[in-house]
Amino acid sequence: LVSRELHPHDTVVDIGGVPVGGERLAVIAGPCAVEDRDQLYDSALAAKQAGATLLRAGAYKPRTSPYGFSGHGPAGLSILREVADELGMPVVTEVMDTADLSVVAEQADALQIGARNMQNFALLRAVGQTRRPVVLKRGLSATIQEWLLAAEYLLSAGNDQVVLCERGIRTFETATRNTLDLNAVPYVKGRTHLPIIVDPSHGTGLRELVPAMALAGVAAGADGLMIEVHRDPAKALSDGAQSLYPDQFADLMRRLEPLAAAV
Ligand code: PEP
Ligand code: MN
Repeated sequence: LVSRELHPHDTVVDIGGVPVGGERLAVIAGPCAVEDRDQLYDSALAAKQAGATLLRAGAYKPRTSPYGFSGHGPAGLSILREVADELGMPVVTEVMDTADLSVVAEQADALQIGARNMQNFALLRAVGQTRRPVVLKRGLSATIQEWLLAAEYLLSAGNDQVVLCERGIRTFETATRNTLDLNAVPYVKGRTHLPIIVDPSHGTGLRELVPAMALAGVAAGADGLMIEVHRDPAKALSDGAQSLYPDQFADLMRRLEPLAAAV
């Protein structure tokens, strides 16, 4: 079902009225996590003013250490919904567990399946049965084939509103958090009709590299970007080192303009 052979036309995924795929570059921006109302509002407002049309932020965070900030759960979701409505930005947020699916689906415009859950087949099946659009991140060590088969789980369960997200893979390189696999962008576009976006924040782990890799992702043919922006990255409870300052994000959006028009 994901194959371009059977379905030659590009799928455009509608996230709360914002198209992902097709003519316009979709930019999803916001902090890694919902920390508190002011932090989310200020970060989201900066993202919107710079031109982002979709908001991101996690209320459920998959953390490597059990002692890391793992999100505010349902309380975070309520803040997220409130801020999203106030600013008129549809919101993408992660669901980690089938047990949380109904509360997350109720508040989110799109469900994110994180890299660590790309092969959580029970979660894929359950999300496939919802009518919410999905952002499916590539697994840390997943081949493109495995990633497309994970998308196939969603489509075969009845949900064809799927956006693929390249967010970097594990390699021997340790200078960066992950290795952003831009090969995947044109490769995937040749194999599937689903839209693909690039996340240079998790793909690099280093904010200095994010603008260059965002531009490179669009040049490679991505339909959109997912970028972490925080009002004060130095104080972020998660992923501060890869989060852009609001003025850096605004500068990136200006540099994307000539490329975005050519998508
Ligand atoms: C995130 O988007 O904050 C996140 C945890 O992403 P990933 O699953 O790609 O690590
Ligand atoms: Mn993050």
